[in-house]
Amino acid sequence: MFKMKSSICFLLMLLLILSTIVGCSSETTSEEGIVEANLEDGTYKGSAQGHNAEIDVEVSIVDGKIESINILSHEETSVLSDPVFNDLKNMMEEHNSINIDTVSGATISSMGFRNAVKEALEKAGATDEILNAGKKLSLVYGVAEEEKHYDVVVVGAGGAGLIAAIEAKSQGADVAIIEKNPFTGGNTLVSGGEFNAPNSWVQEMMDIEDSVEQYLEDTLKGGDYEADEALVRIMAENITEDGEWLRDFVGVEFIEDYLMHFGGHEVPRAIYPIGGSGIELIQKLQKKVHELDIPLYLETEAKEIIIDENNRVIGIKAENPEGKNIHYYAENGVILATGGFGSNMEMVKEYNSIIDERYKSTNQNSSTGDGIIMAQEIGADVTGMEYVQTYPTCNPNTGHLSYVADTRFDGAILINQEGERFVEELDRRDVISQAILAQTGSNGYLMWDNTIKENSNMDSYLTEFKNLEKQGLIIKADTIEEAAQYFDIEVERLKETINRYNEFVKQGKDEDFQRRGSLTELEEGPYYIQRVVPAIHHTMGGLKINENAQVISTEGEVIKGLYAAGEVTGGIHGKNRLGGNAISDLIVFGRIAGKSIIK
Ligand SMILES: Cc1cc2nc3c(=O)[nH]c(=O)nc-3n(C[C@H](O)[C@H](O)[C@H](O)COP(=O)(O)OP(=O)(O)OC[C@H]3O[C@@H](n4cnc5c(N)ncnc54)[C@H](O)[C@@H]3O)c2cc1C
Repeated sequence: MFKMKSSICFLLMLLLILSTIVGCSSETTSEEGIVEANLEDGTYKGSAQGHNAEIDVEVSIVDGKIESINILSHEETSVLSDPVFNDLKNMMEEHNSINIDTVSGATISSMGFRNAVKEALEKAGATDEILNAGKKLSLVYGVAEEEKHYDVVVVGAGGAGLIAAIEAKSQGADVAIIEKNPFTGGNTLVSGGEFNAPNSWVQEMMDIEDSVEQYLEDTLKGGDYEADEALVRIMAENITEDGEWLRDFVGVEFIEDYLMHFGGHEVPRAIYPIGGSGIELIQKLQKKVHELDIPLYLETEAKEIIIDENNRVIGIKAENPEGKNIHYYAENGVILATGGFGSNMEMVKEYNSIIDERYKSTNQNSSTGDGIIMAQEIGADVTGMEYVQTYPTCNPNTGHLSYVADTRFDGAILINQEGERFVEELDRRDVISQAILAQTGSNGYLMWDNTIKENSNMDSYLTEFKNLEKQGLIIKADTIEEAAQYFDIEVERLKETINRYNEFVKQGKDEDFQRRGSLTELEEGPYYIQRVVPAIHHTMGGLKINENAQVISTEGEVIKGLYAAGEVTGGIHGKNRLGGNAISDLIVFGRIAGKSIIK
């Protein structure tokens, strides 16, 4: 569209040099972006939808090129749109071009502004060919210092991301993974790694009767029937076969004769990896990623989703460990597997009015909701964002989930400062968390005896046990009195509570709280008491996806080229996630994302 004069060219070169010195952000990477065209002189109006409302502009054409662009009206958020209406506008004027990258973090405002200018230019005689001619220009902070090209780019190397990448690669795609931490694993690494599967090989060995329908019903009920039933059904129907894939293809090892019985599940159905932690999953997944030669870019943080003029996702802008801006282009699309936002207190508070700084988090620091934020910037819809789960039995000093406290699933009782039980120990996490916060000191105590200890996996967590001892958060004592005195718990009342509970065990029925599962008496020392508090644990809400793990826009349409799996998504757990269901979710939908993206 442009008549480029040599004096302007010189001026631009000068500006480019100056701007590099002063750090100005509106220069080109290359002069190839400048295109030739003869537009009709005059003043033309254009408008297009921005993030919040229509953006109206007026473009003056003098001597066949853009003289100036005036923004007549808009309702964009200024902190995001200032660079659009300043830097992007200046660059259009300087380079007589709209073939310029969007502003990082303000994709929709950039697209809206560009479309409004485009409409005005079309009135001046510009054709699509003219408007898209030349090399695409970038604002300096959007410049790709390097470009990489793959079929599929996976963002996040936690459980969902590694599984999606392995699956896509197995289907023949050229895949890369980018991960902002210097290590893989995300929350999956620090998780228990347990996942639910109905009719699994372990249930068969242990002679436990179960069904897909029962698992589906437990999950829907556990989420107060707020979940997307179609997605839950996919998880329930596929997890057993996908668990076998994890065991046989990836090589994850499981304990063959033990299942966890998480709250809200009618029967024990959570398969348990050796070591009782996600480390086994991540180690084996990472090994497979290396075997399959999938490039894994660590300390590389995705900043923005790249879309083309048809709003199709074509890649990711990311920053590598040296602070370089790398564009990872993806022919088939991008899979977001960036996890939840349990470590982003601002984001939690934005969506949930109950949780605040009183709560610590069980999550890794990297769970900051990046994938959700980036996808929202290009128009993705979210669901269930207000549903934030707290885990009831965490370390009061750090917020870390206590695996020692999993003795709750093997028979430990929950008591308060007054030595009384106050909730069913196998109730939902949200119910127990709220009940604990309502007790004296806003904390609870788990208590168990030697028999329960022997039935549990407590010995797998000896390091944690020693740490808790050092921090004064757990006591092992020969008598009930000694254990109770350590925490100033009312001894006599506690003894009465234990006697009453032991009577219920003998009768086979907990008359106070209707505890589910088999009941165990507390009668054999040594006794253990552990102080616990709830902490933020899981964000049930996230990106809206369909049955193929494709991300859905606020208009209800599939966003082409964008897929998501794992905790970054919403809809599968409704109001409340049952224990063991996050790993089931990420295994099933990680595989689905990896398969559907190459169809
Ligand atoms: C302590 C704990 C115990 C748990 N135990 C269980 C359990 O036993 N069973 C169960 O079902 N669930 C459990 N959960 C929940 C479950 O672990 C998580 O929901 C699940 O692991 C999330 O997996 P993911 O792959 O979606 O995300 P993650 O595993 O969290 O991985 C996300 C990855 O994305 C990376 N990332 C984020 N943003 C960017 C970015 N901008 N650029 C590049 N990379 C990025 C992160 O660094 C991270 O590595 C537990 C959770 C915790 C915290």
